[in-house]
Parts: sequence; structure tokens; C-alpha cells
Amino acid sequence: MHFKPKKSLGQNFLVDKNILNKIVNACDICSRDIVLEIGSGGGELTEFLAKKAKMVYAVEIDNFLCEVIRERFAQSKNIKVICADILKMDLSKKFKFLRRKMVVVGNIPYYISTPIIEHLFSSRGRIKTVFLTLQKEFAERVVAACGSKAYGALSCFIRYYSHPQLLFRIPAGCFFPVPKVDSAFVRLDMKKSFRLSGEREKMLFTIIRTSFNQRRKTLRNSLKDVISADKLFLFFEKYRIRKDIRPDALSLQDFVNLSLM
Ligand code: SAH
Repeated sequence: MHFKPKKSLGQNFLVDKNILNKIVNACDICSRDIVLEIGSGGGELTEFLAKKAKMVYAVEIDNFLCEVIRERFAQSKNIKVICADILKMDLSKKFKFLRRKMVVVGNIPYYISTPIIEHLFSSRGRIKTVFLTLQKEFAERVVAACGSKAYGALSCFIRYYSHPQLLFRIPAGCFFPVPKVDSAFVRLDMKKSFRLSGEREKMLFTIIRTSFNQRRKTLRNSLKDVISADKLFLFFEKYRIRKDIRPDALSLQDFVNLSLM
């Protein structure tokens, strides 16, 4: 392919066949699965996915690459190329006709990892599992459990909507061009039920964000403007939590309990 990768679109193509195999095997795709691939590039991963899945919807923003993969897969009945910006696609509407929840797979540009995850969560009714390559440090924050150094607002947000798992590292040398950072492959299993109403959910995320904005401060200090001192006191009493606790010692469940006070 005579093509100069576009840095501005986060184009780092997976060129290592072993890692492509490992990725596709980890996705656990069966012949009834519908796959939504984000950022198909030249179609390396797409080809592997299509061997296992019933159907692959390959979303790619780059017009040139869309032409390349349309030609490459012209004979493949189970690959449909969609030339679009994933962030501008209304996934719930677009895939309303599907009776089965989709498996989402993507070696995505790292600078839009967060918007892509948020976008996928907002269409979670259509999605079973998400598999993404992420920058290693970002992946560690995504899967971090309470008490660990990488744990923060992002980890809580992820855990509210899904069960996260870091599957394996991907060395920078598996990509072309070789990126400056190492990567990791992450699995997010969507949670089915949500206990909180829209208003409560908003409150929960305000509490989480505000708490971690000043992670060295105690909750009493950082949450002064968000939750009344009385409620906070009751929360400490009810759940037998120390009053000088810092946010990284609270689990998502603790934050949920606090938001329900
Ligand atoms: N999956 C391929 C390419 C990965 S590079 C491989 O592993 O080899 C990331 C790809 O995402 C690039 O092809 C880039 O053009 C595409 N991309 C970047 N932003 C996008 C967006 N907003 N929507 C869809 N695709 C995007």
C-alpha cells in the first residue's frame, strides 16, 4: 500500500500477525456475532474478524482508506464498510434493526479514547462487549481498582457502566509507524442494570469528579460545596468510614452509597 499514515488521525497500523491473532482470539467471537470495528484502517484486523463473525461493520473516517478496504473486501459478503466519524454516528439508531447486541473492537486513535468510550457507553443498549487497544497508562487507569495508584474518576466511570479487564500488553513494535508509547488490550463487559435515575447519576459523577479533583484533600474538604456536612457525617456513620478518608480509598459502591444519602 503506497500510503503515508496520517498522524492527525492516529494512524498506527497493527502489522504483527501474531498480535493480530492474539487480539482476535481474545475477542472470543462466535459465528453469530455482529462486530462493529472502529477505525479499520487498511483492514488487517477486519479480515481476521470477518473470518469469525457473522458480520463486520467497519467504520473508518479516512476516505482514502475506505476506498482501499472497499476494494480489498469487494468479494466479502460479511464486511460492510461505513465511511464515517464514529463519534458522529448515532449507534442506537443506526443499528436498531439488529436483534443481537454487538461486539465492538477497535485499534483506536489514543487521543480520542475517552470520547469513544463515552460514546459507546451512551449506546450501551446495543453493545455486549467492547475490546480496545489503549495506551498502556490509560488502560491501567481504566481497569484500576480502589486503593491503587492509577485509581481515579475515570476508573469509577468505567466501572459504573462495565466490568473492565486488562487482557495483555502490546509492545510498540507491533504497530507501524512505531508509536512512542506501549499499548494494552482491554475488555469491557457492559453491565445490564443501572440502579440510579438520571438525576442521581449526575450527582454521583459530580461527587466522583469533585473528590478526585483534589485527591490529596479529605472528602470533607473537597465536597464542601457538593454535599451537606450533615449528609457526609451520616454517610461516615452509617458505613463506618473514617472521617479523614481520601477519595482513592472509596470504591464505586461507596460513592454510590454517598450519592444516595
Ligand atoms: N485497525 C487498523 C487501523 C488502526 S489506526 C489497524 O489496526 O491496523 C486507527 C484508525 O482509526 C485509522 O485508520 C484512522 O483513520 C481511524 N480513525 C481515526 N479517527 C476516527 C474516527 N473518529 N472515526 C472512525 N475512524 C477513525
